[in-house]
Amino acid sequence: MSVAFISHADCGRHDTGWGHPEHVGRLRAITRALRDHPELFGTVEHVEGRHATPQELALAHDPIYIREVEELVAAGGGALDADTVASEGSWDAATAAAGCVLDAVDMAVDGRAGRSFCAVRPPGHHALRDRAMGFCLFGNVAIAAHYARRRHSLDRVLIVDWDVHHGNGTQALVESDQGIHFVSMHQWPWYPGSGAADDHGLGNVWNVPLPAGLPAQRYVDELERAVDQASQGFVPDLVLVSAGFDSLRGDPLGGFTLELEDIATLTRFLTERAAQWCGGRVVAALEGGYAPDRVGQACVTMLAELAR
Ligand SMILES: [Zn+2]
Repeated sequence: MSVAFISHADCGRHDTGWGHPEHVGRLRAITRALRDHPELFGTVEHVEGRHATPQELALAHDPIYIREVEELVAAGGGALDADTVASEGSWDAATAAAGCVLDAVDMAVDGRAGRSFCAVRPPGHHALRDRAMGFCLFGNVAIAAHYARRRHSLDRVLIVDWDVHHGNGTQALVESDQGIHFVSMHQWPWYPGSGAADDHGLGNVWNVPLPAGLPAQRYVDELERAVDQASQGFVPDLVLVSAGFDSLRGDPLGGFTLELEDIATLTRFLTERAAQWCGGRVVAALEGGYAPDRVGQACVTMLAELAR
């Protein structure tokens, strides 16, 4: 199966300012790590994604909010929330981030690349329908899920989010669509404070809140179990992964203990499930991860597993 590595130069143009943990060095570390693995580098198809259109963003967001972001950027940028900013390049970056994931969905559905990893920023899983939040402007993965449903008429999409923070934005953007099931494993209690175990959204959400510092295998087991629950009687046509690498041990913004081999295990678990469900379609997109070298290594690990 053909595997794509999808990114866009504009994703580097979202300037969060000096000292912000979500910076362009995260993507540079991925490119560097990939170059250090020439065999893998040569195996995957390198794709420059497109920009999502405002109409596509509106699959999940309020058109007024979309216009506000565009206008703020046109005016030179500014603060969107306490820790989320927009710079002159942020519109191009955020639409490219979403567009790369849409391209990945297109390629998965039409068979050009059954599996892909989208190295994008800004991340998306905290963005709400009418508001930026937690470094996120637009819900890249949530938009992609709705796009897969509407544009490609897929009946069932599964989203798996292993970022160390609850994917509150994704939950808010997808919970009204019973054709989308959302699984989020996250540190608890932790930012943003939502995602309790008994919060099932409108019945299509599986939250797995866990304390920091558990043995890594616990996180792997709990996430796999939740994926199995979320797919009971629901055979996905596509698996989307919010691949946050801030769940790795040592991340400055999280206390989970995953190692690279756990990323490999989880990726293999999902590719094996996807092979049974939907011809192996898996689209992964970068969310958090704030130790750049670890992010780079994790991306290589995940790509290698996708390319097996
Ligand atoms: Zn995170």
